[in-house]
Amino acid sequence: MQSAQSCQQPSYWETHKFTILRNAVYIVVILALIIIPTFKIAKIDLAHNEAWIFGEKVSVEDGLAPVIFAAGFFAILVIVMNLVNGRVFCGWICPGGFVAELQENLRRKFLGVRSSSGQKILYWVITLIISILFTLLFFNWVTDLRVFFYYTNPTFAGMWFTFLATLGIVYFELFIGKRWCRTFCPTGIYQKITPYHHKFKPTMKPQFNLKDCGHCRECIKNCPMALDPRRMAYINDFYKGIQACIVCGNCVDTCRQVRLPECKEELMTWVQELPPRDPSFISGKTH
Ligand code: SF4
Ligand code: SF4
Repeated sequence: MQSAQSCQQPSYWETHKFTILRNAVYIVVILALIIIPTFKIAKIDLAHNEAWIFGEKVSVEDGLAPVIFAAGFFAILVIVMNLVNGRVFCGWICPGGFVAELQENLRRKFLGVRSSSGQKILYWVITLIISILFTLLFFNWVTDLRVFFYYTNPTFAGMWFTFLATLGIVYFELFIGKRWCRTFCPTGIYQKITPYHHKFKPTMKPQFNLKDCGHCRECIKNCPMALDPRRMAYINDFYKGIQACIVCGNCVDTCRQVRLPECKEELMTWVQELPPRDPSFISGKTH
């Protein structure tokens, strides 16, 4: 048997490939959402009843066109991606998914059973700050953010009301973390109820079985959708099956992190055709 020293240790890239790629895509999307309205490439300013396209001032009516186009583009992207590879939009593009995942990591760090009151308060405060920033990200598309300080502006009260209502929803989303994506998100629900099409499905390599895992279960702990990645692709269920999978690749990365340093082949992979499995594997009883 090979010892940990007798094989070449994996690089960070090998064991975090999907995490790195996914976060890079998420960050590009968030930067685009910040840069486009901030530099007035496309922006509506309801507070001053004007809009901007590529830096040129236009009427609000004209300025609506690129915003509607952007919203339509995202809607079409969701549908097309869903048709090709399931909830890949949720796992790779949705800024809400990115922030919810970030929040989930903070929750693990600050909100355990043994957390002190100070840690809990810090967690709630950080959640509130992230919620405010995330809400402002979207308000930046439709108003000059300085309106929140201009009480003489006619939209002042309406803006504050809308902002606080949106902030409440965002705070709720972040407070519950990835449970938002699992249960409440309308885009996620749409993608669950449409027939699922996963060209690439994460699952266990055909030559391995559940007993090969020992008691690791790390891929289960790290699945943002609380699935058992080894066998979920065989399950037809909104919450426990492939409909819930966001194709993030955490399970493949995690299995590599567990197995490769021990000079063992990773058990998780992507397949186009699921290898046949007996009912005991699918029910998880062989573990
Ligand atoms: S991370 Fe790999 S070894 Fe651990 S439970 Fe998952 S499939 Fe098994
Ligand atoms: S099963 Fe794997 S790919 Fe699917 S959501 Fe869980 S960790 Fe991500």
